[in-house]
Amino acid sequence: MDLLIKDAHIVTGIKGNMYYGVGNIGIDAGKIAYIGPETMPAQKVIEARDMIAMPGLFNAHTHTSMVLMRNFAADKNLEDWLVKSIFPIEGKLTAEYIHSASLLAAAEMIRSGTVGFLDMYYHVEETAEAVLEAGLRANISLGILTAGNNDRNYEAAKSHALAFHRNYHGAGNGLVKTSLEVHSVYLYDEDGLRESAEFAKKHDLMVHAHLHETKTEVVNSIDKYGFRPIEVFKKCGMLEVPVTAAHCVNMNDRDMEIAASNGVRPVHCPTSNMYLASGFADIPSMQKHGIAVALGTDGAASNNDLDMFGEMNLAGLIHKGHSGDATVMDAASVVEMATANGAATIGFEDSGRLYEGMNADIILIDTNSAHNTPMLNPVNALVYSTKGSDVDTVIVNGRILMQSKELKTIDEEKLRYTIKKIADMLY
Ligand SMILES: [Zn+2]
Repeated sequence: MDLLIKDAHIVTGIKGNMYYGVGNIGIDAGKIAYIGPETMPAQKVIEARDMIAMPGLFNAHTHTSMVLMRNFAADKNLEDWLVKSIFPIEGKLTAEYIHSASLLAAAEMIRSGTVGFLDMYYHVEETAEAVLEAGLRANISLGILTAGNNDRNYEAAKSHALAFHRNYHGAGNGLVKTSLEVHSVYLYDEDGLRESAEFAKKHDLMVHAHLHETKTEVVNSIDKYGFRPIEVFKKCGMLEVPVTAAHCVNMNDRDMEIAASNGVRPVHCPTSNMYLASGFADIPSMQKHGIAVALGTDGAASNNDLDMFGEMNLAGLIHKGHSGDATVMDAASVVEMATANGAATIGFEDSGRLYEGMNADIILIDTNSAHNTPMLNPVNALVYSTKGSDVDTVIVNGRILMQSKELKTIDEEKLRYTIKKIADMLY
């Protein structure tokens, strides 16, 4: 064995069998080779007594470089926030800024137990390079439509997207994947959406979109297209490829039926939806429709961090408060959203669950803290009392990216200095 994790409380990520008990995990050639009571010789041993070992978390919707706008614009509704505060700053972002911001985001994600994410932003090559440097997994989206592409220069955008796909899909031994960004129905028109759907089909790409984020989006979609956003997607052929749809807040029963029958994967972003007053996504109803929901932070500008434990906590709580029924969401469902569902949603089907043969994407959580004592139920603890800062060790593809809270691939101190300098230039 390359690595042996000893005496951990093992949480599997598999609903129905979420808590295994205390045991050992053997890792060989980047895969989980053994889970059970036995011990065995290994090149490296991690003593994990009083730690929870669980699948690393997958942040299924974010814009990592928006860490540069953390806490910049608060207490505004989405349209105002985006157009008046965010767009002007985004106009100043350079490739160099995006590279540093992506690395800072990677450091924050590793520290709080995220091993993979789905990203949508600018200068995508820089984010891909930062991901390879950090050793994380990521699926990075690039579209053929941009808000600025008013001259409809689809051909140039298509060749850029194809080059990106060719260079980065599968890079780093499969750590990086690529997908097609279709930002939303509100930024584009029917022609552009049809063009995108054709492109995704032709090149076998997953689509990454914002869908049904606000009531205004739904009302404007009906005005502009005569249909609700998910119906527009269906009409344009977008649902003929896998679609990951961030938010899905304002969905009725019929929208959910369309999502379920077309395999649309919603990403629940509870913090962002409250920060921008978008509302509460009806996740319990989606689950009743048999839809596998993933979890995401959205960009740090509407969160204002990338801590998936914060999202898990909110996902565990808000549906109870909103519905007046504490049984509508249980801790195991929330862990499944952040692990197995997240990994599968963004194209890493061999991660997100702990069993033999899966990728060794594992995090260890130190429970030697006042807020996790006594440890009566590890699954409940992960959702209701654990903080991102409790993460002690992060392993991706068998490689240790952090141990004893020490980052192995990123010089965080230097990076924080660089980011402060960039912020001085931006604001
Ligand atoms: Zn977003």
